[in-house]
Amino acid sequence: MSAQQSPLDISFEFFPPNTDAGRDKLMRARDALATRDPRFFSVTYGAGGSTQHRTLSAVKAVRECGIDTAPHLSCVGSEKAQLRDLLKRFQEDGVKRLVALRGDLPSGMGGVGELRYANELVEFIREETGDHFEIAVAAYPESHPQAPSFDRDLENFARKVHAGADIAITQYFFTAEAYFHFVDRARALGVEAPIVPGIMPITNYAKLARFSDACGAEIPRWIRKQLEAYGDDSEAIAAFGEEVISGLCQRLLDGGAPGLHFYTLNQAEPTLKVLDNLRT
Ligand code: FAD
Repeated sequence: MSAQQSPLDISFEFFPPNTDAGRDKLMRARDALATRDPRFFSVTYGAGGSTQHRTLSAVKAVRECGIDTAPHLSCVGSEKAQLRDLLKRFQEDGVKRLVALRGDLPSGMGGVGELRYANELVEFIREETGDHFEIAVAAYPESHPQAPSFDRDLENFARKVHAGADIAITQYFFTAEAYFHFVDRARALGVEAPIVPGIMPITNYAKLARFSDACGAEIPRWIRKQLEAYGDDSEAIAAFGEEVISGLCQRLLDGGAPGLHFYTLNQAEPTLKVLDNLRT
């Protein structure tokens, strides 16, 4: 595979597929995105270990192209013994980086487990495995939906970075100022780790609205109105989404963002189009 050198520090996130067709789609996306020479790929993880096997097998398949691939790992609903076994397995399998999360348990799915928050998971990983893994944690420029206030959430974010995280990746957002404000406030709390903006390409309004309500990402009114006006016109939505997200990425990079992490949803094309529009 010929890697096209990119001066941009980028990473691409996938979810573990559960069908053969989904696996083929993931491999096609992986191959197309690998040409942009990403720093790493990552693969999401279902809370309570619900996708544990699929995450690990997707990690192994994705990294066959030679690009480092990080499993996400959430602690909610898991006991320390299970997490310890999983960390051992990751080490044995040559995994070098992790995205460490609390996660969300679907309602009715058991207790919270022994580790309540991501800072406790980061501490646990460091206690168990020292410096073996590069650890990424999640950041919320527009606040985590359950946080009582922006300031409290920021303190909790700083706590998990200080517990031993190397980088942070943000929840997606559409307002560059929210990111710059968050970074400034985090730096004032002594957070030195790179805070990489998480980027969600816009391809489908109904899905985006559903996701955004659940994760607390604000879709600005002007974007919402325009997407609503396009109705089922998927070409118009894709063109408008490309313009909006390319503009956002450019503002972030021009303002000093250390790189970009794309939530690809296992599709390469929307992300590639955005990357092609950037002046790097
Ligand atoms: P935490 O950092 O633990 O924060 C959760 C809430 O608790 C926040 O409101 C925070 O303010 C508060 N809090 C934190 N620490 C403390 C403390 N010590 N005391 C009191 N309150 C505290 N979900 C998945 O299920 N699988 C994935 O693969 C996945 N990948 C993600 C990747 C990224 C980059 C991002 C941004 C999110 C991802 N998520 C994933 C979603 C994530 O699991 C949810 O947002 C979850 O609700 C919070 O996880 P967290 O690690 O941010 O939690």
